[in-house]
Amino acid sequence: MVIAKDSAVLLLFTGGTISMSEDPTTGALRPIDFDRLLEYMPELKHSGISVKSIPFLPLIDSSDVYPPVWERIALIIQEHYDDFDGFVVLHGTDTMAYSASALSFMLENLSKPVIFTGAQLPIGMMRSDAKENLITSIEIATAKENGQTIVPEVCIFFEDTLFRGNRTTKKNAEHFSAFNSYNYPALAKAGVHIKYFRSAIHYPAAGAKLRVRTRIDQNIAILKLFPGITEQTVNAILNIPNIKAIVLESFGAGNAPRKAWFYDALKCATAKGILIVNKSQCSTGSVEMGRYETSLNLVSAGVMSGYDCTTEAIVTKLMYLLGEYESLDEVKHKLSKSMCGEMTILQ
Ligand code: ASP
Repeated sequence: MVIAKDSAVLLLFTGGTISMSEDPTTGALRPIDFDRLLEYMPELKHSGISVKSIPFLPLIDSSDVYPPVWERIALIIQEHYDDFDGFVVLHGTDTMAYSASALSFMLENLSKPVIFTGAQLPIGMMRSDAKENLITSIEIATAKENGQTIVPEVCIFFEDTLFRGNRTTKKNAEHFSAFNSYNYPALAKAGVHIKYFRSAIHYPAAGAKLRVRTRIDQNIAILKLFPGITEQTVNAILNIPNIKAIVLESFGAGNAPRKAWFYDALKCATAKGILIVNKSQCSTGSVEMGRYETSLNLVSAGVMSGYDCTTEAIVTKLMYLLGEYESLDEVKHKLSKSMCGEMTILQ
């Protein structure tokens, strides 16, 4: 692997803990003065990598990120696509997995790295993980071999691991190792060297041009099952005005209660054209409808399998597909296929 001395990275600085420092008098966390960001990392000046940054002012906590922010990220990448070797998005960790998943669908035929990263401790604090996360992300965003980009994917880099963005979930609010990809292997590990696992990385078809799609439909809901859930609760969610798709968070391998009222409610919703996608509440493993009797009904109620997708990936894939395609059959067809490595389909 070579870091080309003249490589260039665009840093999109959206906010999150990484962008904070402690006020010396009050001790409270506040956004750093953006111009001082690179002062915290003098190493970058000597790396030979040219880093340009675009701040999203005011910087935002990622709990406030919503689809227009994804759109802004996508459009900035489109506008600057030819001028940079790769892109690094500094983002709060709380909803980073949603943003990375959304961008993986919105940036079709991506052939350059888009690396999301952040930190558990603000960049201005002594023990912060920000500097290492950021510097390694910048290195990954410029990594090439024989002139070819090594990781042309939307990824999350955190602590020492590079994950496919749409396979990632925030797992820890305390440890520096904040993310995991439960159903897909890491794309790289950063130790003394950065080791890339090529067979896990997705490469676009040669010559395919970047296509940015920004239409998003937010009429989605999540219905999380629990023992004792009432008919009233289920019906309230399935009958939300204008609802177009529901992520059904089921038990184990995709199982649900066999009560007649539950089946009838799902069947009635799918008959109205509402998409229902089955996602297991387990982090690891896949939905396998029909393996147990408790999921047979779901198949006949018209529920689709989310296989081993994360909730973040299903929610954002639904928003993207419903925004881009009018035909329900087309949305269903695309939903049942892996578009950019977000799921493994059981045969
Ligand atoms: N609340 C912060 C955010 O997601 C947490 C973080 O950045 O780690 O913006």
